[in-house]
Order: sequence, then structure tokens, then C-alpha cells
Amino acid sequence: MLKTLLCATALLLPITSALAKDMSAFVEANVLGIVYHELGHAIIHTEEVPIFGQEEDAADVFSIFLVDALFEDAAARSLALDMAAGFEGEAMIRDAEAGEILWWDTHGPDEQRFYNMACILYGADPENRESFAEDVGLPQERAESCAGEYDQAAASWGAVMDTMSEIAGRPALTFAGDMALPVSEIIAAEVRSLNRELRLSRPVTVAVEECDDPNAYYDPEAFRIVFCTEFVAHLERIEALLK
Ligand SMILES: [Zn+2]
Repeated sequence: MLKTLLCATALLLPITSALAKDMSAFVEANVLGIVYHELGHAIIHTEEVPIFGQEEDAADVFSIFLVDALFEDAAARSLALDMAAGFEGEAMIRDAEAGEILWWDTHGPDEQRFYNMACILYGADPENRESFAEDVGLPQERAESCAGEYDQAAASWGAVMDTMSEIAGRPALTFAGDMALPVSEIIAAEVRSLNRELRLSRPVTVAVEECDDPNAYYDPEAFRIVFCTEFVAHLERIEALLK
């Protein structure tokens, strides 16, 4: 399994980037989580992963499955707490501005995404992550099913990641963006780290660019993941709201 392969190199990953002095751990964690989510969309596309359900849910599961696979326990917990809190903050903004849940949206409600994320990370190692479940506020009723939910994620995404971990002969992810921006430093370093661990079957670019919108997305026609620079200020706003 990929987890075994990755543990030895987990410390190389930029969980506490010394480069990005301008960015808080919360913002950096959410930047990584968002890139992982969009990478999930890219992998679904390039590896032709069959999805039985909502693709947005599958991409969320991939993002937290990857966190568990790439990082040692303490870093994985910290990242997952910040990523889950990101959804909590999104819900606060939604309640303050729009005031209603968009039930028709392709994404599930932020509160549901919060608990899905927490559940998978807890379910990956329930015996040792009781305190994580308490820290994140995962109800016992849900916690009981999380080991099974993680096993399902491992059976589906684990097989895809095992194939991608055979990196020889597969194209690397490429980065494009203004390296003067702290967010570019973080994402470029993450691209370098990911290239050591997994490769997609098609060339995919991860770009940081202005979009006039706090957004991130995968463009399947261009094989590009785009992280909009405006998302950083949005995450900083969420962090301020959560304090
Ligand atoms: Zn998505």
C-alpha cells in the first residue's frame, strides 16, 4: 500500500514551510487540502477512476486519504483539524451572507464535508485517534462507522494510488505561477514532493493565478489545476472568523 511507501519520506513534505513566513499554519493547511481535492478531480479524469456517487465527495475523500497517507500522525491530525475548520468557517460565511444551504450544489453542505473529513482521518486509525475525534467533535454515532468508511476509501483510492506510485515512465506534475507569492512557494514545494510519490498517466499543470474569485478548480480540457490567488485572502478571512 502507498501508506507504507510514503511514511519514510513524510518528513520531507512541507507541513511547516520555513519559506512561507507570511502564511499561517491554518491557511497553509487549507491550501494543501484544496490542492489535494483538485488533484483528486485530476486523477479521476486522467486515470479514468469510476465514481459511484458524487465526484465532489470522492475528491474530498481523496484529499483526506492523501493526508493520512503522506503525513505522520501528528501532522495529519493538525492538517485535518485545520481542513475541517475551513469548512466550519465556510458555513459561517454562508450563514452570514447567503443565509441558506444550496441543496442543489454539486458539493455537499460544508457541515457534512467537515464531518466526512474528520471521519475518514479518525477511521484510518481509530484506536489511536480517540483524542482527534474528541478534538474535532465527531459524534459517537458517526464515529462507529468511520473505520468501515476508511476501509472503503482505502479499497478504492488505495488501489489507484498504488498504480500511481509506480512513478517510472509517468509524467511529473508541473507548476506554473509567480514565485514571489508565498502561496506559490507552498504549492510548488508540494508539487515537488508529490512528484516523488505519485505520478498521473497524463501531464497535469498546477497553476497559481488571478481569477477575480476565491476559487480553485480542475480544468479537464487543459489538464490544469488552478489555485486562484484570491483564495488566500478568503482563507485568512475564515481564520479570523474562527478565532
Ligand atoms: Zn471539487
